[in-house]
Amino acid sequence: MSIYSQLLRRTVLPYLLSREDQASALLHFSALQKSQFWSTEKLREDQLKRLQKLLKDSYDNTTYYRTIMDERGLTPDSFQSLDDLKKLPVLTRDITFDRQEQFFSKKFNKKFLQEFTSGGTTGQHAILFREQESFNIKLAMAWRHENWMGKSLCDKIGHVWPAAMDINDNEPFRTRFKNRYLDRRVIYNAGALDNASLNFINQDLLKFDPEYLKVFPSALFGYTEFCIENKLEHPKYKSILSTGEPLSATQRKLFEQTYDCEVFDMYGSREVGNTSSECPAHSGMHIAMETSLVEFVKDNKEVAGGTEGEMLITDLTNFAFPLIRYAINDYGIPMKESCTCGRGLVRMDKALGRLSDNIYKPDGSKILGHVLGIAITFEGPTIGQTQVIQKSLTEFEVKITNKPEPTKEVLEFIEREMKLLIGQSINIKIEVVDEIPKEKSGKTRFIKCEIDGK
Ligand SMILES: [Zn+2]
Repeated sequence: MSIYSQLLRRTVLPYLLSREDQASALLHFSALQKSQFWSTEKLREDQLKRLQKLLKDSYDNTTYYRTIMDERGLTPDSFQSLDDLKKLPVLTRDITFDRQEQFFSKKFNKKFLQEFTSGGTTGQHAILFREQESFNIKLAMAWRHENWMGKSLCDKIGHVWPAAMDINDNEPFRTRFKNRYLDRRVIYNAGALDNASLNFINQDLLKFDPEYLKVFPSALFGYTEFCIENKLEHPKYKSILSTGEPLSATQRKLFEQTYDCEVFDMYGSREVGNTSSECPAHSGMHIAMETSLVEFVKDNKEVAGGTEGEMLITDLTNFAFPLIRYAINDYGIPMKESCTCGRGLVRMDKALGRLSDNIYKPDGSKILGHVLGIAITFEGPTIGQTQVIQKSLTEFEVKITNKPEPTKEVLEFIEREMKLLIGQSINIKIEVVDEIPKEKSGKTRFIKCEIDGK
């Protein structure tokens, strides 16, 4: 940490935070820095207390939770263990949309809540709300995850994002000055892979000279290939935090080699913020247990360690618009062993990330899209960005980018893997493209199933 960072952290940061009603984030950060080293047992006890408080508050103050608990003959006292949470139904985005009014807690004035929309690879959209205090705790959690890659508050960080989200080109000079020189956080839109934009980003990164990067891996991947092709210089980064979509082994390798630094994977979402992140041991991602209760389920039963399950997240911080057992539409694998780093926070496997559409076999049975994703992008030969579109039970289209230009061997590999997983009778049309079309959020969707009524 530089002397300038220390100075900002002690003087300017508290002032900037209090001006935006975020001063409590500093206290939360200090508490989270300690609790990460509690034993798993103590963290679970703490989670249960937080959960019970949330359930009681939701029962007393929201129509939705009062109704579903009454319907099931439950009261807040019915939840004496974390496992009791399964007595409540899964919450989908559709329910928050259809019954939105019933989720607002009567303790809060709606006018003062933060409104945010969920992004998501499934293309679903939901408008959700949270109170300021919930935001402040999430902010502290984001700081903790950045701290795991070595970054202290006010150290310089550049964000390489795939779309103009979080970027406002019309921001007044004062805001831009604050972001760059006081918060020391600059966001770059690397979604448009044209020479002018990428050159601009390169020039500005050299000027800003951040010590850390926070990136969507696909965005940094495109930018990095451009730098390599054009033999451009880049700043010396201490580490890189990858988020927003799964980080493939190919991407991680390219970043580690090009920038000669460690790469950390982090899983988060717009709905519930940072959920898990890699520690310096780089072995799975520690779950943010103080803010999120994550279940990995199949048929409403917790899956065994090392087994894949659908993630249901309970946001332990949002009392204004409670999200309990929220189906985030992602899958993960819980890990049971403890980590060598000494943190008591439980872990999930880093290999699985966002849910893509499911895929159908010719006989109509389903397989998870990301299984195919892992088969063709996490191992095997280096391939460009890929998208698989299922047109019918037997017809598939694969788009693959020309960076690197896929060899005959790569094309055969994709076909072989797909047939192995889905069935030998499928037809696959592979098209080499300049770019994979992006969804509205700026994310690219890896698997798209276009079968009606899927
Ligand atoms: Zn660890």
